[in-house]
Amino acid sequence: MSPRGTTPMMRQYLEVKQTYPDEILLYRMGDFFEMFFEDAKLASRLLDITLTSRNKKAESPIPMCGVPYRAVQGYIARLINLGYKVAICDQVEDPSLAQGLVKREVVRVITPGMVLENELLDEKSNNYVLADIIEKNQIGLSYLDVSTGTFRVTESNNLDEIIQETYRVTPKEVLLPSGNDDTSFKAYIDAVQNLNPSTLSANAFDYSQAKKRLLKTLGTISLEGFGCNRFRPGLRAAGALIYYVQETQKQAIAHVRSIEPYRLDNYLFLDDQSYQNLEIEKNLRSGTRKGALIAVLDQTVTAMGSRMLKQWIRYPLTDANQIESRFDAIDEARNYYQATQTIRDHLKKIHDVERLRSKISMGHANARDLLSLKQSLQQMPTLETLLKTYQSPLYKARYNRAEVKLLAKNIDAAIREDAAPTLHEGGMIREGFDPGLDELIQMTRDGKTWLLKLEAQERERTGITTLKVRYNKVFGYYLEIPKSRLDAVPEEYIRKQTLVNAERFITPELKEFEEKVTNAEGKRAELEFTIFTDLKNQVVQKNSDLQQVGDFLARLDCLLTLAVISQDNNYTRPDINSEGCLQIQDGRHPVIEKMIPGERFVPNTINMDNDTNQVIIITGPNMAGKSTVLRQVALTVLMAQMGSFVPAASASISITDRIFTRVGALDNLSQGQSTFLVEMQETANILNNATADSLVIMDEIGRGTSTFDGLSIAWAVAEFLHDAKGAGVKTLFATHYHELTELSKERERVQNFNITVKEWNDEIIFLRKLIPGGTNRSYGIQVARLAGIPDKVITRARRILTDIENSNHSLSSQAATQKPDEHQLGMPIQLELFKGYDHLIADKLAKIDISQMTPMEALNYLHALQEKIKSGQSIS
Ligand code: ADP
Ligand code: MG
Repeated sequence: MSPRGTTPMMRQYLEVKQTYPDEILLYRMGDFFEMFFEDAKLASRLLDITLTSRNKKAESPIPMCGVPYRAVQGYIARLINLGYKVAICDQVEDPSLAQGLVKREVVRVITPGMVLENELLDEKSNNYVLADIIEKNQIGLSYLDVSTGTFRVTESNNLDEIIQETYRVTPKEVLLPSGNDDTSFKAYIDAVQNLNPSTLSANAFDYSQAKKRLLKTLGTISLEGFGCNRFRPGLRAAGALIYYVQETQKQAIAHVRSIEPYRLDNYLFLDDQSYQNLEIEKNLRSGTRKGALIAVLDQTVTAMGSRMLKQWIRYPLTDANQIESRFDAIDEARNYYQATQTIRDHLKKIHDVERLRSKISMGHANARDLLSLKQSLQQMPTLETLLKTYQSPLYKARYNRAEVKLLAKNIDAAIREDAAPTLHEGGMIREGFDPGLDELIQMTRDGKTWLLKLEAQERERTGITTLKVRYNKVFGYYLEIPKSRLDAVPEEYIRKQTLVNAERFITPELKEFEEKVTNAEGKRAELEFTIFTDLKNQVVQKNSDLQQVGDFLARLDCLLTLAVISQDNNYTRPDINSEGCLQIQDGRHPVIEKMIPGERFVPNTINMDNDTNQVIIITGPNMAGKSTVLRQVALTVLMAQMGSFVPAASASISITDRIFTRVGALDNLSQGQSTFLVEMQETANILNNATADSLVIMDEIGRGTSTFDGLSIAWAVAEFLHDAKGAGVKTLFATHYHELTELSKERERVQNFNITVKEWNDEIIFLRKLIPGGTNRSYGIQVARLAGIPDKVITRARRILTDIENSNHSLSSQAATQKPDEHQLGMPIQLELFKGYDHLIADKLAKIDISQMTPMEALNYLHALQEKIKSGQSIS
């Protein structure tokens, strides 16, 4: 046998593989797609299919595995979902006509970001591929969903913002130029490592090439109309995406008709950490939608609406006018509640127009997809009639109605309701649509009758009652006559084959007929495909209109959904003020209020402003509801800025530029990282980036370290946020360090609140009510009891607490006087009280500038401070 790789076929394989080293190469051989070498080893493991080998007897057999080509979709889906890229190398000429080796080419590369098939897509999510490039400190970022045509681009000189933006997009794939060793770009690359970025040749990002590609794709002579002709690195990134689509899909993209430039400061910014903490798309514990804000808000009835709502949640607005116009639209739909529900019922009949048009344009659709598109478009006039009374401009669609109507009509006229799912076997087009096709259909149908007639006629003529007309692939149609009756065969029969018991004949008449029928069948399939292709091209022609239709339907679904849930959940329309006030009267947590149906959710009021209520310190025992209040305020602001009504009796918000939330280490269950350091890094980020328009949520920060450190840090951070840049940052600060309430004595814009509990028979009842003033008790022992800590331990703890409260001395001397059996319970001996040193420490911390320190310096500083305190040295 020839050694590895030297058969012509293997040479062909290796040549192709050279171009696709990073993809799993599926190589078509007959009815299978085969994989070889490392690809085979990998795929057999991933797909759980048998690994065999080619040239088994050779010295070095080639590892190989394969999947049937008819079932290939399912296997590809699994590989893509695992994050792999797949190159499909198919036969590009008819094997039966090929001379020598069949020509093969990679016809398409499927990657996690480049999929169009329904089974590979989540209908509720966009499927983005994102590209970035840096040029003279400007970073360009662009992202594209090839399955919907959504295409956006932005630029910024703030690396951190671009990193955060990358996470906000949650791309399936990140593409970066190869060979970029700019130092800040390296920092970017490091920061997005867990998105598994891949590189694209620097050529793809070339400015003039990129621009040319964009103009060609969008079909315009300038980018001015889109408002991004001034962009540079942004256009390079966008152009690279077009390049990537062309390279992988091996065709131009006709359905990407526009690109939307945007500015990051047009949207409320939530860094990824805050986004996770607030459980907006995912519940922290389960990682699913259940228990997340999106599960409450996303009651949309179409996939398009669902995706747009997600976009609205991720990109809350900062423009008051835009927000108000969404409020107006929701208000209106809420007033026409019944009509709104009727419209939503109609929306349910609508398919995913965005993805249908992409699929059709990219040639991955069948006749049934055209039917779905038609059915959806046919709903438009009804919808628009129902919307007549709605005044908001957001309910107006901008598309050419006559053209779209015509398109639906044309599809309807051509495509059978029971159209076949295949493209090349006929059965798609209605009879009566095309006279030429009708004739062919007639011919194939009549053929069968004609044959039966011929059979009867020949039996009669020859007297051979066992004569049969038959068909096989080798001879086509023939007459079969048993050996016993050969005597009666007429002269004009032409003998073709002799079998044991029978002989087969043809006649010129039969052959003539055969030609007509087989031709007719082939021609019919061909003609049907031509008609289908023509319709497909009509869809491509109408891409801009269809994009408008999709956009309109998505927006309509979102607005009506927000209207309905605002009514059902008793939300209210917020005011927007420009005085920097954040006032929420009887606000609720939108998710928790739904999760405790039996227990009534206790609403709470929060008033914040820039004058006296800027830093709100909330104390209260564990489980009181501190975190809940904090989160509900953040979620209320976010909901308001996405244009939704909010869970409150009334609310007035000022436009917020960023929301930061930090959750102290112990509360942050999901992450097992070295928590304290991370917590401090994150805090530094807030201190550096928060502005006077930001909202900061600090939930038990400082918990990840010892009491002293924690309190000191919490204190200093609260002070800093109060003083920051002379203007201060609106801050909600939940803490179990009740000592922090002292800060209000020193800083004028600090207010103390606590969440009440009632003591009753040594137990506590959570009242969940936020009231002014601090607490000086933590009720930890009562909470411990609630949690099921054994009575013996509770009793002991209570005793130690009483001792501590009655004396200012260190615990150890007290504990030593206890009876031995109680002592064995192993109580903490090293408790410290925050007394005596407090002002000294506070002063010292107030003087340092955390924003100028590295986390390590901060830690060292704290360590030195702690050592002094422990050893009783004076703090100066
Ligand atoms: P804390 O942060 O003070 O420890 P949480 O905010 O985590 O307390 O609240 C603990 C639990 O109390 C929540 O999971 C929720 O079930 C309940 N809870 C919180 N706030 C309310 C409220 N306003 N009304 C009803 N139940 C509440
Ligand atoms: Mg909490």
